[in-house]
Amino acid sequence: MNLGKIADLLAVNGIEESVFLEKLYRALLLSVFEVVCKEIKKQGVKTMEKENFRKFKNKVIPTRGIVARYAGCQLPDEDYAEMARLLTAFFRTGSPRKKFQDDYREQLIKRQAGQCAICHAPITAKGAHLDHIVPWEYVGDNLEDNYQMLCGICNQRKGTAAYFEFSMLLLNKSSLRTERLKAHAG
Ligand SMILES: [Zn+2]
Repeated sequence: MNLGKIADLLAVNGIEESVFLEKLYRALLLSVFEVVCKEIKKQGVKTMEKENFRKFKNKVIPTRGIVARYAGCQLPDEDYAEMARLLTAFFRTGSPRKKFQDDYREQLIKRQAGQCAICHAPITAKGAHLDHIVPWEYVGDNLEDNYQMLCGICNQRKGTAAYFEFSMLLLNKSSLRTERLKAHAG
């Protein structure tokens, strides 16, 4: 495997290298976050870590320790602030799902220029789904700007993996169109 092969894959699918690298990087960060959340839950230490996290005014400090302890890795300095933001949301989870009004859905669709946030197919509030970009399971409704509207197919395909959006990068409109036609025919 070499970088040339990746370049070929991107070229045949018309994907910009910068878009690919940005999404890949985000996916790696989110997979670290996902592992940290799962480990903390598995070891039954959420309350303890939450208490410790609460004591720090600068959340970057406990975040460094948490990432090292539960994911066994380190991040570049500039990424700890984002990880701290995600962990703050994680430690607040436990509330029931928030109910969203129709006008909020409409607002998101408008912001997305009437298109599904992943495949860019046209969507309307009726058939579209409100998606938690970083899954609700890990951040609840405690993260700002964590919502997007998806078409039914993307919503189903995305599932609950935090980094799933990256793996959908290659799923283009034409494959979705085929599924849509099948869905209509069936
Ligand atoms: Zn879609």
